[in-house]
Amino acid sequence: MNQITLIQALKKRKQLSLYRIRYPRESPQKTHIKVANQYYLNFCSNDYLGLASHPKLIQSFQKSVQKEGVGSGAANLITGYSVAHQQLESALAEWTGRESALLFSNGYLANLGIMTALIKRKDTLTQDQLNHASLLDAGILCRAKLQRYRHLNTNHLTAILDKSIQKNKFIATESIFSMNGDQAPLPQLAQIATMYQATLIVDDAHGIGVLGKHGAGSLSYHGLSQQEAPILMGTLGKAFGLIGAFVAGSTALIETLIQYARTYIYTTALPASIAETALVSLKIIQSESWRRHKLYDNITYFKTKMASLSIKLLPSNTAIQPLFIGEASTALQVAYFLKSQSILVSAIRPPTVPIDTSRLRITLSTEHTFQQIDQLVLALKAACEAYSIKTTDRLL
Ligand SMILES: *Cc1c(COP(=O)(O)O)cnc(C)c1O
Repeated sequence: MNQITLIQALKKRKQLSLYRIRYPRESPQKTHIKVANQYYLNFCSNDYLGLASHPKLIQSFQKSVQKEGVGSGAANLITGYSVAHQQLESALAEWTGRESALLFSNGYLANLGIMTALIKRKDTLTQDQLNHASLLDAGILCRAKLQRYRHLNTNHLTAILDKSIQKNKFIATESIFSMNGDQAPLPQLAQIATMYQATLIVDDAHGIGVLGKHGAGSLSYHGLSQQEAPILMGTLGKAFGLIGAFVAGSTALIETLIQYARTYIYTTALPASIAETALVSLKIIQSESWRRHKLYDNITYFKTKMASLSIKLLPSNTAIQPLFIGEASTALQVAYFLKSQSILVSAIRPPTVPIDTSRLRITLSTEHTFQQIDQLVLALKAACEAYSIKTTDRLL
């Protein structure tokens, strides 16, 4: 592929309003961030509980780096794994009510690791149509027969499973859908999995820390045991405010991943300082339930304000609140408009979401004040008027 071909393809992407641009941040990740020497109100981070720049975490990280050094220096099965990793894994297992847990370098790798280690070419893998790219890519990589069921549609799922003749069946879903904010019917999915002797894989990237008892996530929220939901994936890059991910489940599952998950084996371990700081993050998550309450107060406040102005949002009770736009170019224009009002909201466009379903993805955090949310609501109202957006609470 020569340069000219690349340039032409990039130009095409620009014309379709699908081009991605990065804006280097000049301040820590907070509700106000500095970009190109200007401060913006930030409604597009996954730092749901305001931990990414929490003084206690910064302090722990600094102390830990002094003690442990900076890099882990090797893969987990060589010398990268440390006592800090081990302690964090035990704490995560206990917190989520699972026998064991295993730390991965990030959620993308964890999903690839789970599927490639467990799912064979002759197996059936059914995925919610809107699953995260990492789950879909993992499905391709494990080369199992891939079947996608319509979003949240358990009837469609059972229809697929009814026809499946494969011995080993897997169902994979996000708990809270990252681009929609809606939630999978996890108890029903667990029942279906039992009925069809299928294995349920739950990606709780957006639920861990935010939902459930002491923030233990979506499975805890629904009271689903290890037997009912045997494979839990949680990330440390979102509510935890750090980086990394973990898989929690039976000891046999974790031992299998240690033996066979190539994305666990063939990559450098997380720095010990990250693991040690994640333990501090976990303590805050467990003990400061006010952070979850405040986040949910903010979600309710935002939704109520929007409803009072008759601006419809896609159905979501979570920190992810999408405003449906449709066309990618309009979504971009609206995001630019908001930026001109010193507010950052990301325009989510294909291929992240299906064609003609571009949207603004507003994410709320514990740290937002009602006043900041008021500012957002007013700017969204002005944007909807300026671009004649007909808002809807239904995805096509
Ligand atoms: C963010 C995300 C991931 C990837 O996690 P990282 O730790 O950022 O690699 C996986 N699944 C879902 C649903 C996510 O939102």
